[in-house]
Amino acid sequence: MKNKQFIVGPVELYQETRDVYQTDFTYFRTPEFGNMVKQSLAKLGKLIGNENPNSMIYLTASGTAGMEAVIENCTNKNDKCLVINGGTFGHRFCELLEYHDIEFSSIDLEWNETLTQSHLEKYANQGYTMLFVNLHETSTGQLYNIEMLSKFAKENNLLLVVDAISTFLADDFNMNRYGIDATIISSQKGLCLSAGLSFLSFSERMLARINQTEKVSSKYFDFKDYLKNIERGQTPYTPAVFIMYELQNMLELIEKEGGIKARLNFIEEKCKYFRTKAVEIGLKIPDYPLSNMLTPVCFEDIKAGDVIKILKDKYQIFVNPCGGKMADKLLRVSHIGNTTIADIDNLIEKMQLVITEVKEAKSCIVS
Ligand SMILES: *Cc1c(COP(=O)(O)O)cnc(C)c1O
Repeated sequence: MKNKQFIVGPVELYQETRDVYQTDFTYFRTPEFGNMVKQSLAKLGKLIGNENPNSMIYLTASGTAGMEAVIENCTNKNDKCLVINGGTFGHRFCELLEYHDIEFSSIDLEWNETLTQSHLEKYANQGYTMLFVNLHETSTGQLYNIEMLSKFAKENNLLLVVDAISTFLADDFNMNRYGIDATIISSQKGLCLSAGLSFLSFSERMLARINQTEKVSSKYFDFKDYLKNIERGQTPYTPAVFIMYELQNMLELIEKEGGIKARLNFIEEKCKYFRTKAVEIGLKIPDYPLSNMLTPVCFEDIKAGDVIKILKDKYQIFVNPCGGKMADKLLRVSHIGNTTIADIDNLIEKMQLVITEVKEAKSCIVS
C-alpha cells in the first residue's frame, strides 16, 4: 500500500511534479534558464502580491535560512524588534534575533491563546522599528489577523516581516495589500514542491534598507549579490536547479486549474470536509482562528502520539505530531499537497479505528 501524507511538508507531490524529472534540463548559466527563472518569479510575484520581479530572490536553503538571512540583511543594531511568539516558529524568530544580537521583545502566547489587539497595544509608541510574525503559526495552526497586524505596523511605522511559509497558497495572502516589507515562503509547503528552496519578496523600502546594509554577517547569503544576479534570472551560486523546473511546472498547473482562487478553494474544500467529518466522529478542534492549511486535533483521554504511531505503522498514513508541551494532546492534519476528498474519507475511517484500538488497549491496562 502507498504512503499517504497529511503532513505540513514536504507534502504529497503532484504527479505532474514527479514527471518534471523526465524532461530535459538546460545548463543554468544560460539566458534560457535565466528567462525561465524570471518568468517564474514574475508569476510567483503576482500570486504573492508583488509586481516587481526584481525585488524577489530565491535561496537554495530551507525556510529557516530565509528567516535568518532576512535578519542578517534587513536588520541593524539600531533596530528594536517585536516578535509574535505563539509557538515553535515564533520562538525561532526570537532565537535568531538573539543569536544575531538584535534587540527584541516578544508577545508570548499560550498554545491556545488568540492574538488580539490588546496584546499589541502595550507595544505602541515604544520606539519599535520592526514587527516579525509567522502569519500561520504552523505548530498550533493559529492564523493571525493580518489586517490587525498590518494596521498596527502602519500606525507605528514598523517594517513588517512576514513568514508566510505555511499560509501562502492555503489562505488568502497579499503582500502589497497589507504593506508587508519582506515575505518568506519555501518550496515544500503550499507550493507542493520538493524541499530545498526558499523565496523572498521585498517592498521598495526594504530594498533600500538591504542596499544600505554594509556588512552582512553571512557572505553566502548577502542579498545584494542575489538582487544583482536576479535581474538576469541568475543566482550568485548554483541553485537547486531541478526545483526551479518543478516551480515552473507548478505555476502552469495552478493556471490550468483556474488560477490561485481555484487552488485556494480546493484547499478550503478539503479543510472544511475534514473538519466536518472530524467533528462527526467526536474529535475536538481548538476554537482559535485557524489556517486552512491544517487542522489541529485535541485529545484528552488518550495520547496523540499513540494515534500517530498506529496510523503510520498499520495504515501508512502520516499526520504531524506537535512538539513540546502539546506532544500528548495534539496532532495536526495537513490539507495541502496532492490529497483528495477520498483520501480524507480513508483518513477519517482509519482514525476512528485507531482511536478505538488505543482506547481498548488503555481500558485493558486499567482493568
Ligand atoms: C515549515 C516552516 C518553516 C521552515 O522550516 P524549515 O524546516 O526550515 O523548512 C518556517 N516557518 C514556518 C511557519 C513553517 O511552517
